[in-house]
Amino acid sequence: MSRILIVGGGYIGLYTARRLERRVRSGAHQLVMVSPENHMTYQPFLPEVASGLIDPRAVVVPLRSALRRTRLILGEVERIDVDGRSARIRLPDGRPRDEPFDVAVIGAGSWSRTLPIPGLAEHAVGFKTLPEAIWLRNRVLAQLDTASEAEDEEERRTALGFVFVGAGFAGIEAIGELEDFARAALATYPRGMANEMRWVMVEAADRILPELDRGLATYAAERLRERGIEIRTDTRLVSIEDGVVRLSDASSIGAATVVWTAGVRPSPLASASGLPVDDRGRLRVDRALRVEGIDGLWAAGDVAAVPDPDDPSGSSPPTAQHALRQAKLLAENVAAELDGRPPQPFRYRNKGMLCSLGHYQGVADPLGVRIRGFPAWFLHRTYHLLYMPTFGRKVRIALDWTVALLFPRDLAQLGSLEHPRDAFRRSAGS
Ligand SMILES: Cc1cc2nc3c(=O)[nH]c(=O)nc-3n(C[C@H](O)[C@H](O)[C@H](O)COP(=O)(O)OP(=O)(O)OC[C@H]3O[C@@H](n4cnc5c(N)ncnc54)[C@H](O)[C@@H]3O)c2cc1C
Repeated sequence: MSRILIVGGGYIGLYTARRLERRVRSGAHQLVMVSPENHMTYQPFLPEVASGLIDPRAVVVPLRSALRRTRLILGEVERIDVDGRSARIRLPDGRPRDEPFDVAVIGAGSWSRTLPIPGLAEHAVGFKTLPEAIWLRNRVLAQLDTASEAEDEEERRTALGFVFVGAGFAGIEAIGELEDFARAALATYPRGMANEMRWVMVEAADRILPELDRGLATYAAERLRERGIEIRTDTRLVSIEDGVVRLSDASSIGAATVVWTAGVRPSPLASASGLPVDDRGRLRVDRALRVEGIDGLWAAGDVAAVPDPDDPSGSSPPTAQHALRQAKLLAENVAAELDGRPPQPFRYRNKGMLCSLGHYQGVADPLGVRIRGFPAWFLHRTYHLLYMPTFGRKVRIALDWTVALLFPRDLAQLGSLEHPRDAFRRSAGS
């Protein structure tokens, strides 16, 4: 029996495994997935998790119930040994395990792309994972509480300062949703703090949303500015120290919360394993998604440089839209090769982008048609609801949205979840 190992349980991992379960015979091939979490995260909904519109559990898909024939190993692949046909896995308890394979699919995704900026690693937070989204929601509420009890003005302003760095889709959606959430929450505080709250988007390029047409990006910037969100283009983050954020235009902002949304870099797994990578560390694959020069090794998604069908010198962007199509083709190609049939090239073309600005506003360019305002926001929601895996998750999200329409926002601050043993320790110590 041959072993097919799938690294990662994100878009590539989940969709490849699901299709392989249908395409390869169970007696002849064993499917194994390695993932640090037992669920897939639908990242496009993270901004709405951060703003509390969607319950965190509704945007994750439990892998064990979504996959019927795939053995899930919880852990992280540290290295792939191509010659020995085995993967070194670090299990959650720290023990190593070597897992043999005949065919491997690498879908390890990406990490936040950071820079060596003083104070960044110590004080900022990324926006790529579910824990980060949950933490941010609690953080916003905790900062409002700190500000409402602050003794002096500087302390209050720092607590109410929120700086985001990087105005791509994730950054714009995150700041749009969270500012909306914070403004709604402020209505329940006794002191009028709304005027002191400051939300700032810092972007090194001369515009926001570089993936979109300039007119739509300008529209998005105007809508956000109308809500009081400051947008600083042509500006870079210089340092973060003691609640002071310094920028390249020599200005500084008192802000206790800094969110880094300045792009992604591929998982370092490929480089650590000595596999062929491009200058950005992405696995080099051909149009059929085979890792260049290595039999039986496949890769796609954010971790790979998949040749763009429209521009052979370029590569597909790191989006869910592309990852989803790549995963389906990848599974078909693995099955084809096992059956002795030729694999097919990746042909998908970008169908446009959708961006929510929160507050019932959005911008989008599906199939080249430019849409803005409420219709774009509605399209964004409908599209992602449609693509959310499993019927049960779709229903949960639709219910969460309905509840959010009918009732005031839930403002319970659950930051204590980060320290579940504190209360017990206190009891035991008394
Ligand atoms: C906030 C946010 C919003 C987004 N919004 C959109 C959007 O609106 N539209 C869109 O098209 N795209 C969007 N994206 C991008 C999209 O989510 C990614 O392009 C997509 O998730 C890539 O899929 P992937 O399978 O390559 O990686 P992922 O889905 O990130 O999956 C990678 C998986 O590999 C696991 N893994 C990592 N390292 C290892 C290892 N060493 N061993 C084992 N497992 C490992 C990870 O835990 C994870 O489960 C958004 C991304 C973010 C962060």
